[in-house]
Amino acid sequence: MPTTATPRTPDDADRTPVDPGAAAPWDPARVGSVLVNRRRGWSRRARLPERVRGADPRREVVGWCDARSPEHGWLLVPSGGGVVGLALRAAGRRGAESEAQCELCGTTRPAGHVTVFAAARPAGDGEVAVRACRDLACAEHVRLLRATPTLRPRAGTSIAERERALHERCAALVGAVLAGA
Ligand SMILES: [Zn+2]
Repeated sequence: MPTTATPRTPDDADRTPVDPGAAAPWDPARVGSVLVNRRRGWSRRARLPERVRGADPRREVVGWCDARSPEHGWLLVPSGGGVVGLALRAAGRRGAESEAQCELCGTTRPAGHVTVFAAARPAGDGEVAVRACRDLACAEHVRLLRATPTLRPRAGTSIAERERALHERCAALVGAVLAGA
């Protein structure tokens, strides 16, 4: 089995400033430059899903998990014209044992599709927990027109309302992680 490569130097040394006008695709270096917690665990050789590379997280929330170690996840959250990145870690390999609702996108998911993630606080005092879709693809889930066997959107809400709520909840999560930092 391949082992996860650990950067020899902290990524801080290679931080790239984010150009607010740039439409360049998101690559691992750019993601590393906006992470506010656990930056040292981020690898510049990380693989980003195609949908992440082409996304514009200044306008919409983007979330994904590492394909090879799915307990590691990341969220990019629009913030004041820029982007804040959060590193998350799933509390366990198995998701909720019964149907559960994602606290970020509000989608109700069957057993195993929602799990508790922890975001370390950069101030070094503990973590913030959030129950969310295991794939962290919440931004895709809020755009569903109708329920599927594994995704049941919050009843009586429009896609625009769900997108706004997702952004607000993610911004609140960022606020909780950064509180006191
Ligand atoms: Zn979700």
